[in-house]
Amino acid sequence: MKTVKTFSELRVARSKLAEPVGLVPTMGYLHEGHLSLARRARQECTSLIATIFINPTQFGPGEDLSTYPRDIPRDLELLEKEGVDLVWIPNAIDMYPLGFQSWVRVSELTQPLEGARRPEHFRGVTTVVTKLFNATMPQKAYFGQKDAQQAAVIRRMVSDLNYHIQIVVCPTVREPDGLAMSSRNTYLDKDERRAAAVLYRALNTAQDAYLKGERDPNILRSLMNAELISEPFARPQYVSCAHPDTLMEHFGRVEDGALLSMAVYIGGTRLIDNILLEE
Ligand code: AMP
Repeated sequence: MKTVKTFSELRVARSKLAEPVGLVPTMGYLHEGHLSLARRARQECTSLIATIFINPTQFGPGEDLSTYPRDIPRDLELLEKEGVDLVWIPNAIDMYPLGFQSWVRVSELTQPLEGARRPEHFRGVTTVVTKLFNATMPQKAYFGQKDAQQAAVIRRMVSDLNYHIQIVVCPTVREPDGLAMSSRNTYLDKDERRAAAVLYRALNTAQDAYLKGERDPNILRSLMNAELISEPFARPQYVSCAHPDTLMEHFGRVEDGALLSMAVYIGGTRLIDNILLEE
């Protein structure tokens, strides 16, 4: 496994890789969720590139850019075990040199949900993913359903900008109690960690009701809220039952399936999770 930092080192290393090339973009501090993407990519591609970059432009003021957990030596060990061929760890100053002023923006899909609470977050995501795509030129790129809106936004961008890249979205990997794996789970203390399982319980409660025939989005949202409110450590920021493609909130009956999603503060830590309800 080769590790590179600069764009020129990457260019040389990329030119030696046999195609098709798969790309797994990450912010590091890897867990089984990330590794599941790498495993899938390893099965489907001849060569595998992983990137580790804590992208400053997708963090808002007051968010956790400075405290985001990092452990590059451990990440490299894990990626090597998964058979990754090339790891690119760019520097922020190379990615965003002095005077940087070119941005990629997806206009509508970024408005609701995470976009409404984290202004400019998706502008940072789509800009950095564009730069990762341009530099690594993959045939396939792997993202997690954990970040459902991100996956939808990137699919839209790939289609709108005519990238010849297949976007593969992999299922959310969970802890035994249902908590979605996340690098940010390390912020939770013991009581908060126990409380954090409430997100998945809330999603499950609404999913059960849906599977039994409930199609009123207000009832599905109320069921999730009721479960969340029963946990003293949890402060919901939003709870959504939205159209799975447009991400607009469902009013009236749920017809074409739904994305149930939420952002919840557990103590000071903001967690997100979602479940897709099929039609
Ligand atoms: P991050 O390092 O948090 O930016 O995540 C990098 C990629 O891993 C993104 O495509 C995430 O959606 C994906 N990912 C993060 N957590 C999980 C998880 N628990 N299950 C599946 N994919 C995940």
